[in-house]
Amino acid sequence: MSEGAKKKEEKPRKFQAIRGTRDLLPPDTALWNHVEQTAREVFVPYGYGEIRPPIFEVTELFARGVGGDTDIVSKEMFTFSPDPLSRLEALRTLILSTREYWGGTDFPQALNEPLQEFVDVLKSASSRAQIPETAENVASQAQLASIANRLNQLITVEDSPDIDEVNDLCEKVELSVESFQFQDAASLRPEATASVCRAYIEHNMQQLPQPVKLYYMGPMFRRERPQKGRYRQFYQIGAEILGGSDAPAIDAELIEMLMAFFDKCGLQGTELSINSIGHASDNCRRGYVAKLKAELEKVKDRLGADSQRRMEKNPLRVLDSKLEHEQAIIEKLPRIADHLCDDCKTHYAALKRELELRGVIYRENWRLVRGLDYYMRTTFEITAQGLGSQNAVCGGGRYDGLVELLGGPPAKGIGFAIGEDRLILSLQESGKGAAPQGRDVYIAWMGERAYATAVRAAKDLRNAGFRVELPPTELKFGKALERASKLGSCFALILGDNEVTDGQWTLKTLADGSQQKLSEAALLEYLRNQKAGL
Ligand code: AMP
Repeated sequence: MSEGAKKKEEKPRKFQAIRGTRDLLPPDTALWNHVEQTAREVFVPYGYGEIRPPIFEVTELFARGVGGDTDIVSKEMFTFSPDPLSRLEALRTLILSTREYWGGTDFPQALNEPLQEFVDVLKSASSRAQIPETAENVASQAQLASIANRLNQLITVEDSPDIDEVNDLCEKVELSVESFQFQDAASLRPEATASVCRAYIEHNMQQLPQPVKLYYMGPMFRRERPQKGRYRQFYQIGAEILGGSDAPAIDAELIEMLMAFFDKCGLQGTELSINSIGHASDNCRRGYVAKLKAELEKVKDRLGADSQRRMEKNPLRVLDSKLEHEQAIIEKLPRIADHLCDDCKTHYAALKRELELRGVIYRENWRLVRGLDYYMRTTFEITAQGLGSQNAVCGGGRYDGLVELLGGPPAKGIGFAIGEDRLILSLQESGKGAAPQGRDVYIAWMGERAYATAVRAAKDLRNAGFRVELPPTELKFGKALERASKLGSCFALILGDNEVTDGQWTLKTLADGSQQKLSEAALLEYLRNQKAGL
């Protein structure tokens, strides 16, 4: 290897954030904070309290709450299985594949090492209490250890092991492996509604005055293909109303609050779409879906592969298609509004009246649907400008069956989730980005004596709420002023021997270069007035 190549190899690795994740940095984080602060200011007066659920939960919660068939759960979750479980999968595959291609004595050889390793993993996992200590687990563990021993013996002592015995051992391995119970697999949350419902049930919130109104904000994780506005770690701000009634006024007030939030953020070009998807009974959505499917059958040949697949599994999702050539076909399909049962029709009409009463502008979109059974009646989506194809900043809807599906009491539910990354992107596109964070005062000090005063002044000014930069080492006056303006400071406070002796500090306004001498008290007063006037 050449010297150059060697040097290159020795260089420490430079790490980068994982694909689909990113650092949020200043000054952008100021805008993130502002948006989150605005959410709090808008939600709290509507009676919402903040919930902070954990970032990871038992995988099955999401499988049930979001739906095992959805892309989110079936393809996009970041799941971590307990360590022995993933090794067990590997062992199982090995037994199967080695058996298929078994060439005589190779088999026990191939199996021996992974099996020994697995026995060790189990040992260490049980010492760390990572596997439940049930009688069955203890027995299986002992059996695997003894099979591993026998296998080792066969290989090391006997020249050609008895095939029947090897087969028998393999079967026993398979059986003990199958009967093992592991801790539940966990996943990073792909959304938070399921967690909020879980918390509602776990903390008996149905005993509180109903409905319970909760909001949350934080990161979500989905293994999607990254692109502009689509990340693998992204942030949502959401709210849920659980329990109580399903009066349309509740849906309307939630939407009113949401639009007030976007308004206060200054989001441009927002469009609210609403729809009612009825409820999952024969005389309502199920009847409609059957009709939709029958119509789709007739045009099947003209649909793309994705729609053909969705047609079988989840016909409603065909309506989501963005494919150009499918649009004309979809426009002619039956519409759910014509198939709602009387109760759902009344609910939807009342929702629209309630929105009008609140001055909320909406448009109806009959193609706005959700695929899961527990979603019902009200669905809505908000789009904003400057986001290209990923222009939805918020999705929401009513899900009256979800709490019960997760093992809780029957409870109504409705909520939304705002994509915070997209909201920020749209705000930035329309020029609402945060300005770089400057300083109010840069302290240009010179000399030991002035330094002591400068340290005290910095502390007092910061206590009074000013952004202050105090250089840690002495700088020449010209250099200090240069740094002050590079940092975007408004004022330079000049402290030298004279200033300290006279008790008159020099304050330079960087915008126009003017200077004035002020006592400490007068300076604080002056800066306060200046800040108030900004
Ligand atoms: P959903 O939970 O799928 O209804 O999404 C609600 C909102 O979250 C969407 O309208 C998007 O604004 C946002 N969102 C969903 N997935 C992502 C993602 N991978 N990256 C960024 N934002 C997302």
